[in-house]
Amino acid sequence: MAADLKREALAVLKKFFGYESFHQLQYQVIEHVIGGGDALVLMPTGGGKSMCYQIPALLKPGCAIVVSPLLALMKDQVDALIANGVPAAAINSQQTEAQNREIIDNVYRGNIKLLYISPERLLADMDRWARDLRINLIAIDEAHCISHWGHDFRPEYSQLGLVRQRFEGVPVMALTATADRLTRDDIKVQLNITGAKTFIKSFDRPNISLAVVSGLSGRDKMRRIVNFIENHSGQSGIIYCLSRKSTESLAVNLRGLGFNARAFHAAMPTSEKLAIQRDFINDDLQVICATIAFGMGIDKSNVRWVIHYNMPKNLESYYQEIGRAGRDGMSADALMFYSFADVKALMNFANDSTQALVNIEKLNRMQQYAEANVCRRRILLSYFNERYDHDCGNCDVCNNPPDRFDGTKLCQMAMSAMARTGENIGFKTVIDILRGSRKNDIVAHGYDKIKTYGVGRDLTTTMWNAYLLQMLQLGLIYIAYENDNHLKITELGKEVLYGKRSIMLSRFYFDAVVREKKKPAKTIFDDNEVDTMLLEKLKATRKAIAVARHIAPYMVFSDKVLTKMAVAKPVTKAQFGMLYGVAEAKTEQFWLQFTSVIKEHLKRGEI
Ligand code: ADP
Ligand code: ZN
Repeated sequence: MAADLKREALAVLKKFFGYESFHQLQYQVIEHVIGGGDALVLMPTGGGKSMCYQIPALLKPGCAIVVSPLLALMKDQVDALIANGVPAAAINSQQTEAQNREIIDNVYRGNIKLLYISPERLLADMDRWARDLRINLIAIDEAHCISHWGHDFRPEYSQLGLVRQRFEGVPVMALTATADRLTRDDIKVQLNITGAKTFIKSFDRPNISLAVVSGLSGRDKMRRIVNFIENHSGQSGIIYCLSRKSTESLAVNLRGLGFNARAFHAAMPTSEKLAIQRDFINDDLQVICATIAFGMGIDKSNVRWVIHYNMPKNLESYYQEIGRAGRDGMSADALMFYSFADVKALMNFANDSTQALVNIEKLNRMQQYAEANVCRRRILLSYFNERYDHDCGNCDVCNNPPDRFDGTKLCQMAMSAMARTGENIGFKTVIDILRGSRKNDIVAHGYDKIKTYGVGRDLTTTMWNAYLLQMLQLGLIYIAYENDNHLKITELGKEVLYGKRSIMLSRFYFDAVVREKKKPAKTIFDDNEVDTMLLEKLKATRKAIAVARHIAPYMVFSDKVLTKMAVAKPVTKAQFGMLYGVAEAKTEQFWLQFTSVIKEHLKRGEI
């Protein structure tokens, strides 16, 4: 019996989605709800939540209802299902009542397997549907929206607790990518599914590489970003900024350098925002410079990188934002810039917020992550209460273990400059003195006369910045926020200054991450086998099909499927149909176009 169900489920998975096996926990969830049980499914973004309700919907007679908070997400899901030959539809306020009624008629006649709907609409028609329609499952996506603890409470969700009673005998499945424990527990209570079985998948996203770069000036940041995007040519990505103004100036600068970049923030007109989202989804726009307003309704599976221009306010936001990359499981890169200016600005926000103490503590944890000298993934996952007992091998710390040197002399120079000016100066002035600047400000104060003036000329401003940051992290100095941000020397610092103690620093490399990325990226399969010229041609074919069918390129095939295609080079329909991620409906529709391109390419290769 169980073996039969598994076989059937795998057949449906291959037929409609083209996959050979289930991801971790997917089958367990499917088996549980087919048996009639309620379920709470916690998986990270890209973990494969949708399959948990789509497969049962297809296995059982009747139709599944999927509650979703965002119209755009519903539309994407329905488009993707239809492209795979799954009869799906959405009921929403943008369609006429007649259209919506026709869809319900189709559900009634058994012609729809998945019906996507907003919570308010389900609640409005629930009694009638519970009586008249054959509903086999109710899936509540983004279930954290029902909890006040969550980061995205939605009042429309609050009445969904009624569903459990009204649809007697129909399993209810709540799904979310929210990692925090309080929200998880609350979802079950609010939905009246306290008896639901909980399925938790690891929140690790091993395909996303993690890197942090601290203490760069604005100009160096820009150089670094340019370098980074050049290393990701043709790959979509998002740059998150703290302010609207910086999204705009960054986008302007990048366009000036010839990059295809646009700004995106909440104050822009809706029509413009929608157009930008569309372009991004359709691979017509490479770079989005956005405030956190961007990303919620975006399902695009081939976002290949995320840059944080500023440090986010907490690790929850950071993890959610980098999580928008690499949903297709292919390697993706997350780079974060970190500076004191960010910490200062965020500290002000936190201080003024309603839950100041909690927010300050969260900010501290974020800062510790940024400053860490141990595997970053370990820090992240332990923050989310997950056991992770090894180094990941895919973060900057793992790839570039800190190269330490005796920095005692260097620290003494800096602290001597501070001491000789009465600890009345900030970062900039310390560096100006050390580097022997002739700025008016320096000369006017007579700083050019002190003994330390110019002794640090050998190091660049950027390097001094980085080393001062380390001195701060190591507790040799601190910032007197109440005193114009002047730098003060701690007791520990004094011990170093007076030669009673030595201190090790991590060597600063401007190009650390860039060098690291030139090594072949760690991917699921061997990069060398991919014929990149062929891959480009396949991408062009995908784009042409997407335009003709008015769907997003990633819905035709994901980057992962195309990459596998470029390795396997199928030339017959049968070979094409056996590829990973190629469903039956897509074999029928697309095999000829893609195999022709491949055949043509192979022919050229032989000449
Ligand atoms: P989530 O909703 O959890 O963010 P999705 O359901 O969108 O994740 O799935 C993420 C990606 O993984 C999609 O491209 C999906 O097609 C793919 N996927 C899901 N299940 C499997 C599977 N068993 N094998 C291979 N790919 C899968
Ligand atoms: Zn690591």
